[in-house]
Amino acid sequence: MSKKGRVFSGARPTGRQHLGNYLGAIKNYVALQENYECVYCIVDVHALTTMETTQDLVQNTYDMTVDWLAAGIRPEESIVFVQSHVPQVMELHTYLSMVTPLGKLTDLPTFKEKVRDHPDNINYGLVGYPVLMTADIVLYKSDVVPVGVDQAPHLEFAREIVRSFNYRYGTKVLKEPQMKNTEIPKVLGIDGVQKMGKSLNNHIELAATPDETRQRVMQMVTDPQRAKRTDPGNPEICNVFSMHKIFSPAEEVQMIDTECRRAGIGCVDCKKRFAANLNANLEPFRAKRAEIASNENYVWDVLHEGGKRARAIAEETMSEVRAAIQLPK
Ligand code: SF4
Repeated sequence: MSKKGRVFSGARPTGRQHLGNYLGAIKNYVALQENYECVYCIVDVHALTTMETTQDLVQNTYDMTVDWLAAGIRPEESIVFVQSHVPQVMELHTYLSMVTPLGKLTDLPTFKEKVRDHPDNINYGLVGYPVLMTADIVLYKSDVVPVGVDQAPHLEFAREIVRSFNYRYGTKVLKEPQMKNTEIPKVLGIDGVQKMGKSLNNHIELAATPDETRQRVMQMVTDPQRAKRTDPGNPEICNVFSMHKIFSPAEEVQMIDTECRRAGIGCVDCKKRFAANLNANLEPFRAKRAEIASNENYVWDVLHEGGKRARAIAEETMSEVRAAIQLPK
């Protein structure tokens, strides 16, 4: 079947992935492979903008790749690689930075947010982050980029940079990427309040053992207004119920919805059921993960091979870019 075009997406190397990563990105990455030629990049250079130490960078890159592959990303079709393995992206970033107004970069809400989060490390790389992101996207002549509503302005900005470049050099060499609006669910952590994330330690790792998973699930905060077992609960405001809707069979979800509201089921029992269903769902992933992780060389081979394929596309684009700028040969 012919594909609809090329998709690009990048993610920082955050190590072992959690349910939030899976539901928010990986699941979609896997699905996109059906209709698109996919380019998935582990953006280690982006990560350096806010990283205090790089000692876990290699391990985190490896662990994240293992999880991606175990979840169903197929490296024989999709290009899976590490950003720094394609130095052309740094070159393109420099050229694009010449057509990007500084004031626009420092005005972006994401930059202001980063300044708030990292007041002691407001570096040049942080300011140019959206330019490097644009270079990532256009270097691979991507047609579409999957983004959630909140990231839409970033892609619009990338499109502006592309237009400025093409206008400045009187060329059409860079392709304006299209937005592929994607429903990205906000997955709450076990605290039931904040977005699931490693830094908040409110996450459930995909690769955790069934026992570890059960323990994390049993710590999940439920309907905060349900103080006693005999109180009726409200599934609509309960994070455990939101997760049941994703991982449990429809009849069980229906039963919990009804029984919770009339105190027919307790939260402990409800969480045990969720843990069992989650573990059953994750079983094939864990089996595949164990198989992949038993061959470390294979994982690095995937990334190196992906890098080779990515560099081939990148070099083609860069020859056109250099010619468009009229750089001396
Ligand atoms: Fe949430 Fe289940 Fe407890 Fe209801 S019974 S409040 S859905 S954990």
